[in-house]
Amino acid sequence: MKHRHFAPQLVLVAFSLAVGGCATSGINRGDFNIVSLQEEWQLGQQLDAQIRTQMRVINDATLTSYVNDVGRRIVAQTEMANLPWQFHVVADDEINAFNIPGGHVYVNTGLIARAGNASELAGVLAHEITHGVSRHGTEQLTRQYGLAAVAGLVLGRNPNLVQQIAAQIAAQGAIARFSRGAETEADRYAVRFMTGAGYNANGMVTMFERLLAERRSRPSSVAQFFSTHPLTEDRIATVQAEIQRQGGARGSTNDSQFSRVQARAQSVR
Ligand code: ZN
Repeated sequence: MKHRHFAPQLVLVAFSLAVGGCATSGINRGDFNIVSLQEEWQLGQQLDAQIRTQMRVINDATLTSYVNDVGRRIVAQTEMANLPWQFHVVADDEINAFNIPGGHVYVNTGLIARAGNASELAGVLAHEITHGVSRHGTEQLTRQYGLAAVAGLVLGRNPNLVQQIAAQIAAQGAIARFSRGAETEADRYAVRFMTGAGYNANGMVTMFERLLAERRSRPSSVAQFFSTHPLTEDRIATVQAEIQRQGGARGSTNDSQFSRVQARAQSVR
């Protein structure tokens, strides 16, 4: 299927429709980001093309459409609801998911296979979506490579750096190890967004507990996750406090499709 690849002109059309209604630039409203949203989405297309040469991004009718459905329900709760987000499934047994600039979120089959229910998967997607809405990826790239390099990157003038970043993402399973503040922000807003989308935010808590249990029993299955997300015990407390602040856990824990989707993820090799 072709629909994963937006032609550049379609992205521009989507932008002219979307940006007009999007007055704020992200949750971190006080932060300065030199990259415009349109440039960020073009950078996302470049990075996604390179990531596909390094990782097994699959287009499975069951998995890809389900992850896109869940992702879009959550994105609809954010101020970037009108932008063209894309959710990708990576055939990889490690339990991991990550976001890159430009509204791309990747989730491994290993994570879908091991999640306990739909709300656990939704919690992970909500966390990654929040990194995207907060634009943590472009902030981190600017910090790491400097303003001039990132300005050239978003204009398509630095294909070597695009390749280097894609290789780094493939190796570490994330674009960066974000700051503790960025992770707390992603967790807190994820509670709000997934609750708004109708998912029980307690799924984030049970997913963290599952990750901690995996670290004890099968550490290699969560090595990438813990190298970029080292604070899971603290994060459980943050999420529980945010759930209380939002009026308590509510919404669905599971859906009728999840067990079929999970079986499919377990069968992909
Ligand atoms: Zn994170």
